[in-house]
Order: sequence, then structure tokens, then C-alpha cells
Amino acid sequence: MTKKKIVILGTGGTIAGTADSASDHTGYTAAQVGIEQLVAAIPSLRDSPFGLVTEQVAQVDSKDMSFAVWAKLAARVSHFLAQAEVQGIVITHGTDTLEETAWFLHALLNPDKPVVLTCAMRPATALVPDGPQNMLDASAVAAFPGARGVLAVCAGVIHGARDVQKVHTYRLDAFSSGDAGPIGYIEEGRLRLTRNWPEAVIPRAPVAIKFIANQEAALAWPRVEIVMNYAGAGAAVTSALVADGVQGLVVAATGNGTLHHELEAALQLAQAAGVRVVRATRCFEGRVIPGAGDLLPDSQGLTPVKARVDLMLQLMG
Ligand code: ASP
Repeated sequence: MTKKKIVILGTGGTIAGTADSASDHTGYTAAQVGIEQLVAAIPSLRDSPFGLVTEQVAQVDSKDMSFAVWAKLAARVSHFLAQAEVQGIVITHGTDTLEETAWFLHALLNPDKPVVLTCAMRPATALVPDGPQNMLDASAVAAFPGARGVLAVCAGVIHGARDVQKVHTYRLDAFSSGDAGPIGYIEEGRLRLTRNWPEAVIPRAPVAIKFIANQEAALAWPRVEIVMNYAGAGAAVTSALVADGVQGLVVAATGNGTLHHELEAALQLAQAAGVRVVRATRCFEGRVIPGAGDLLPDSQGLTPVKARVDLMLQLMG
């Protein structure tokens, strides 16, 4: 029988970062160490019963994540998912935009195998780095029979792509699934699940995949921007974006989707002019609860950044 494989794709981030001093956790440069070197530093990963395949897909600080990297990543993930001997995929990624990449891959590919993003809050050169344990934990999830969907693993916690959010600037346990709660925990390499694997979403493929695979089109992904509601929010930013040709707008509304009346009027005008408008909430927990008279559709529980990704994928169609 062919040996099952775990594929580990590197994209950069703090997990691959280096600093001049082992006690420096903030003044480092992200995305310096190659994926092979990161894997080689973890003996129990090297000795895994699975065949390990490593590939450097990108080497970026995830604050600089680009559509070009997303396109390449989606292509490599699809390529490996299609191989019967691949059990699961681990992706090392910066923490800053991890949740966006997670939702992008989940909504696009709807994988029936585990695709596990992992990260670190401390650079690889730290006295006690968190990356190696996170990679080990992510590999345990990728190897777990029945695991599916795009997941995120950090500090021993398994999150689903839909709910995961970075919630802390410094703490090692920097992610939360909000009021949905995590999918489970990894303890001594074993999984303790607290709920089901993420439900299947309607994948945006194949139209979006075709769009993304087309290099020329990849240079011009649908333009979707985020505006925010706050005290004194007005029409100016929305009007400027519409004049500039934006195709979609996500509004990070207050509370249960509420908007300053001036911003609301500007968004309704934008919608009437053909711009797709989606209302998400800037609250960390909860979702916009739809009402009968809503003029602007809600994000169906997606945060503003994920609603933006979703709208871009929809507009590709
Ligand atoms: N700026 C880094 C990144 O997102 C932060 C991290 O990985 O923790 O790549």
C-alpha cells in the first residue's frame, strides 16, 4: 500500500521569522527561515509515520498577503488535495491575515480533507518559540481520520475557518472562535473534539478557480473595500470609493448591523448604482441578525474581512 502523505506548505510569517536576540519577540523579521529547515528542527515530525512533503509556496509577512500568493496557494492546495495518497495539508502562515486565507481556501475549495493553517507568535529564534509545537499539533490534525475543511491550529486549539479570528497582539493563544467555540484541542498529540468538523459550504469553484488560475485575471481581482461605522461616520469614504470604481463594499457596522444615517444613505446609493454592499458587524462576537425590512444584506455571520473575501469570490463569478 502507498504510504499516506502529509504535505507541509510554507508561506512565511513569524513562525519563519528571525530576530537578533533570543529574547526579542517583537523586533524580528518575519518570513526568513525555509519550510524544510522548520520541519527539520522538529524531530518527532521528521520521524512521522507519514511521508512528509514540504514546499515553499511563498515567503511573506502575512500583513503583505497578496492575491498572487493566494492564487498560487490555492493552486498548490488543489494539486495536493487531488492526490489519493495525501492525507492532509499543513500550511505555515503569519498570524495577521491567517483568518482571511483560511476563509479564502475554505470557501473556494471546500476540501473534504483537512487543510490546517498554523502559525507562531514568537519568531523561530526565540528562547522558547511556539512554532514547533504548533506545527506538531497541526500535523496531528492533518493526520486525523475524518478531519475535513480548512482549519487553524494555534496554542493547542483547533478552530474552523468560518469562526477563527486573531484576537490578541502578543499572547501565544492569540486566536478565538468567538461564541461558536473551538472545534477542539490537541493534547499530547491526541485530539479532543468539542464539536463537528466545519460544515460543507457551497464552494465558489469552479468559476472562481478558473478566474484565479488565469494569471491576467489574477492581476485584477474584483475590487471590494471595507468601510466602517463609527460616531460621526459620513458619506465621504463611500462616495469616493464608488467614484473610484469599487465593485463591492463591506461595511463593518456597529452592533446588530446599525449604521449612521449618513453612511447608510451613501451605501444605499452605492447599491442602487450597482455596487454589491454587505453589512457585517464590528462586534467581536455575535452576528448581524437579519430583519424583514433590511435594505442592505447581512454577511451571514462572516466578519468584515471574511465577508470581503466572500464577496470577491462571488464577484469572480
Ligand atoms: N506580521 C506577522 C505575519 O503575519 C505576524 C505573525 O506571524 O505573528 O506574518
